[in-house]
Amino acid sequence: MTKKITNLAIISNNTFESTKVVNLNHYDISSALQTTLEFKKLIEIFSNKIESMIPHSAFIYTNEEFGLEIKSGVFTRHSCSYALKAEDQQLGELKLMRSHRFDNTEIKLLETLLCCLVYPLKNATSYHQALKMAYIDPLTQTNNRASFNDSVKREISLAKRHGKSLSVIFLDIDHFKAINDQHGHVCGDITLTAAAKWIKEKTRDSDVIYRIGGEEFVVLLSDTSLDGAKLLAERIRMTIEAHTLAYDMATIKITASMGVASLRDDDTDDSFIKRADDALYKAKKSGRNLVVPAI
Ligand code: GH3
Ligand code: MG
Ligand code: MG
Repeated sequence: MTKKITNLAIISNNTFESTKVVNLNHYDISSALQTTLEFKKLIEIFSNKIESMIPHSAFIYTNEEFGLEIKSGVFTRHSCSYALKAEDQQLGELKLMRSHRFDNTEIKLLETLLCCLVYPLKNATSYHQALKMAYIDPLTQTNNRASFNDSVKREISLAKRHGKSLSVIFLDIDHFKAINDQHGHVCGDITLTAAAKWIKEKTRDSDVIYRIGGEEFVVLLSDTSLDGAKLLAERIRMTIEAHTLAYDMATIKITASMGVASLRDDDTDDSFIKRADDALYKAKKSGRNLVVPAI
């Protein structure tokens, strides 16, 4: 009887000790993961913290919603991967790799440790979704003016630092007010959404489209010369002109005017934008449905 109690005490003690170790590890990992909302840092911290318990040579984290593929280390033969989820929310997939198999004890431990990662990933997801919302125009799903203001500064300094070209197209739909007046605001909104889609069809994935005002769009073209930008602007102009929208019993056609500028050595952020805007103004003055390069 006494022996049983002793055994029980020992078992209980062991369980307590091992739980304590796991709990301490959980606490340590969770605390570290609370320090950031960046996906890359979260995964790096997690990988570092579990390394002594579950040695691995590499990790890959993918997240389709944000187009992420974060990887580090030496890719080897054996792997274990987990689709991470909190309630019904997808939080990406984590894969660990190494040259020999992960055994069952390690897999079980990893599964308990992954619990520490799920909620920090959920917080990061909410944070990045909110950031995305703050930068997206809800009507056309293009980037908004706040996003343009940030990006143009960053792209100008990158282009200057790396000696690369940078161009911009300022686009304004011609006589757009008449569409609202004749067909109503809803039709105007549909037309704006369609225009954004037609612009998108003509651009590359690396070109970013912004709606910076009511019926004004900007396309920012990294690593693109003035000639390249003019060519693209002309293609956009022709596409917009070629389309016809059907609304109610009416058919609607629109055109757009564009100003194109390429970054010069002596440009400031403001002068670069102003030259494109002036060229757009010239296109309007010269009869509309035109592409005008900046001087
Ligand atoms: P221009 O050829 O000189 O550019 O003439 P315009 O009529 O396109 O330009 P103007 O600046 O006179 O009018 C722009 C119009 O765009 C006025 C406004 O009612 C409309 N607008 C701005 N934002 C929106 C929007 O979000 N939805 C709709 N439906 N209309 C909008
Ligand atoms: Mg306008
Ligand atoms: Mg207009």
